[in-house]
Amino acid sequence: MTERAVVVGAGVSGLSVALALLRRGERVTVLERGETGGESSWAGGGILSPLLPWDYPEPVASLALHSMAMYADWVAEIEALSGVDAEFWRCGMLASEVAVPDQALAWCAEHGMAAMRSCPLRLPAPLDAYKENQLWLPDIAQVRNPRLVASLRAAVLRLGGEVHEHCLATGVQTRQARVTEVRTDAGDFPADNVILAAGAWGGLSLTGIVPVPNIRPIRGQMLLFKPAAGVLDTILYRNGLYLIPRRDGHILVGSTLEDAGFDKTTDDATRQRLHGEAAELLPALAGLEPVRHWAGLRPGSPGNVPVIDRHPDFDNVFVNAGHYRYGVTMAPASAALLVDLMEGNTSALDPAPYRWEAALARHWGGAL
Ligand SMILES: Cc1cc2nc3c(=O)[nH]c(=O)nc-3n(C[C@H](O)[C@H](O)[C@H](O)COP(=O)(O)OP(=O)(O)OC[C@H]3O[C@@H](n4cnc5c(N)ncnc54)[C@H](O)[C@@H]3O)c2cc1C
Repeated sequence: MTERAVVVGAGVSGLSVALALLRRGERVTVLERGETGGESSWAGGGILSPLLPWDYPEPVASLALHSMAMYADWVAEIEALSGVDAEFWRCGMLASEVAVPDQALAWCAEHGMAAMRSCPLRLPAPLDAYKENQLWLPDIAQVRNPRLVASLRAAVLRLGGEVHEHCLATGVQTRQARVTEVRTDAGDFPADNVILAAGAWGGLSLTGIVPVPNIRPIRGQMLLFKPAAGVLDTILYRNGLYLIPRRDGHILVGSTLEDAGFDKTTDDATRQRLHGEAAELLPALAGLEPVRHWAGLRPGSPGNVPVIDRHPDFDNVFVNAGHYRYGVTMAPASAALLVDLMEGNTSALDPAPYRWEAALARHWGGAL
C-alpha cells in the first residue's frame, strides 16, 4: 500500500511538497483552513529572487539560487499538468542606489548570477538620476501569484491529490513517536506522514505537537495600479520599494515589513507613502488611484532562513515553513530538499542550515 501524506497548509510551500510526493506515487491530502493559496502565497509579489541577494546569509542565497535555476522547468511541468498559465516572465530587475555596486557585481559573478552596470531597456526618465549606483539583473524572473497557486492546485488535483478547503487542522493523534491522524474541524485524517506548511501560522502549535519552529507573521502591504500598457517592462527596486509589471499592464508596488501579529488591515498613510515613492520612479503612476490595496502575512523567521526538516520529536512529522520574504522563490528547491529528507536520499543542497537544530541557534535581530 502506498503511503498517505497529510499536508497542513495549501500555500506554495504545502502545494509544492504535495506535488513532489504525488510525482513519487504517494497519496496526498492537503488541509487548508481557508482557500488554497489564499494567504501569503496569494498576497506576494512573485519576484523570483531575494531583492538584493548579496545582503542575505549564504543559506538564503543557496536555497534561492538553487530554486531559481529550477524554476522555468518546474513551472512548465505544473502548467502542462494543470493547463493554467502561471505567467512566468524573465523580465529582469533594475536595482537603484545599490550601496556597494562593485562588491555586489563581484558577489553575482561568484554565484553565477548575471549582472551588469547598465540596462539596455527603455526606462522611465527618473531612473537616469540613479545611474551611478544601478545594477541590472537580467535573469530575474517573476510569476503571478494567484495564477501560480491556481496552477499548483490544479496540478495536485490532476495527479490525484485531495485538497480540503475550509478545514482547520487543530491537533494530532499520536502513538509513541508517530502521528497517526490529523484532527480537524471537519473530521480526522489518517496519516503515514505529516507535513507542516502552515506559513505565518507555523509558530502556533497543533494540539499534541510541540515544540514549534520560531516563526511569526510579518505583514506586508501592496498596491496595484493599472496604467496605460507598456509603461514598464522590468522590475524596479530602490531602497526597499519595488515595482513589478505584469504582462497585462498591471503594476504592483510593495511593500512594508510590519510586526503586527495576525492583523491584515491596511492604512492610508502607507498607501500614500508607497504611492508617492513609486511615482518618483514611474511618474505614470502619479495621477492614478490604486485599483487595490491589500496586506499579507509573511511566515517570518530569523535571518529569512526556513526550517526544512523532520520534527525533533516525531519520526513521521516534517516541516517546510518560515520562508519569510522569499517562499515563492524558494518553493521548488525546498520541496525537493524535504522530499529527499523524507526518503533518506542525498540532496543536491546541503540540508544543514535548514535543520531544526540550526534554526534554534538563530534569533531575531533588530531589523525585520
Ligand atoms: C506583501 C508580500 C510580498 C511578497 N513578495 C514576495 C516575492 O516577491 N517573492 C517571493 O519569493 N516571496 C514573496 N513573499 C513571500 C511569500 O509570499 C511567502 O514566503 C510564501 O507565500 C509562503 O508560503 P507558505 O505556503 O509557506 O505560506 P502561506 O501562503 O501563508 O500558506 C500557508 C497556508 O496554511 C494555512 N494554514 C495555517 N494554519 C493552518 C491549519 N491549522 N490548518 C489548515 N491550514 C492552515 C493558511 O491558511 C495558509 O493558506 C511576499 C509576501 C508578502 C506578504
